[in-house]
Amino acid sequence: MRNSLHIIALGMLVISCGTTQKPVQKVAAKPVPKPTTTAPVKTPVQTPVKPQMDNQGSNHFYKVNIADASKGDNTISYGSVVSANPGRYKVVHSFFPSVGQNFRQRYIILHYTALDHDKSVRVLTEQSVSSHYLVNDTDDREIYQLVDENKRAYHAGISEWRKITNLNDTSIGIEIVNPGYTADAQGVKTFYDYPEWQFKKVGELVKDLVKRYDIKPQNVIAHSDIAPTRKEDPGPKFPWKRLYNEYGVGMWYDDTAKMAFMNQMTPETFALESANSTFIFKYQTFLNDFGYGIMPSGTYDNATKRTIEAFQYHFRPEKYDGIMDLETWAILQALLQKYPAK
Ligand SMILES: [Zn+2]
Repeated sequence: MRNSLHIIALGMLVISCGTTQKPVQKVAAKPVPKPTTTAPVKTPVQTPVKPQMDNQGSNHFYKVNIADASKGDNTISYGSVVSANPGRYKVVHSFFPSVGQNFRQRYIILHYTALDHDKSVRVLTEQSVSSHYLVNDTDDREIYQLVDENKRAYHAGISEWRKITNLNDTSIGIEIVNPGYTADAQGVKTFYDYPEWQFKKVGELVKDLVKRYDIKPQNVIAHSDIAPTRKEDPGPKFPWKRLYNEYGVGMWYDDTAKMAFMNQMTPETFALESANSTFIFKYQTFLNDFGYGIMPSGTYDNATKRTIEAFQYHFRPEKYDGIMDLETWAILQALLQKYPAK
């Protein structure tokens, strides 16, 4: 079925390409030049250089970047070629890679495991949840890979960002060993710090992935961003501002833009206005425009509170109470200005 659709689509493409062609104008035949007596110069046949490949088990990897910038392909393509064995035929790797391809990996999702090192490894390798990478909490030079980057890992769950759902399909998941949080009797959460060496591992890993897959830097987001009513991770102690400043990935707002928005209202005027349903509908719409999967309703409900909390974990980590105050509102507008919705 898929093949036949593909053939139909290909056919339509050929047809549509055909309709755009200009009619060929007849040109008067030029006189044929007389053959000269000198021998014709032989132009050497250009043999394209095959990209080098490496074998690891049944997988074949390109050893060099196979992207061809001269054909508009500016991706960085190493990757693997999965070996197939269809019936009595053999898939050979003497072909040349097509320009007509891109990467599946468009987002990077950061998590904490809320478990210690050994339990994190066990859960992520022996159960139905997984991630591509696990960053341990040891000051060593290791980062664990648990799932091939070209395969899906099960880390995002029900998720949405900027109208894209099921982020497992299009993302690379990075779990960070961190205990998560403890909550007091009133439900106030206290989160755990990330050691400096662990942050550096995450920073270098994310930077490398963004470069290799040509991922938009702003598509490095939190699990709590794509599932705000279910998740808190990686929490307010993860230094998103430093990730942006030191590794050039993720999102952060400009302070001048934030201050300009803050100066538009006094905190007192804001407190009065923020309680009415028209304003609630407005900030719910802004949160939705920015990326969160919140449905604007004009009512401050639990989903709205959790979404504001998720926003604050990421962009205003000093205070995460789920209340839309003037500073949160100014940061949201500054971010929307910098990273506008399409
Ligand atoms: Zn998570």
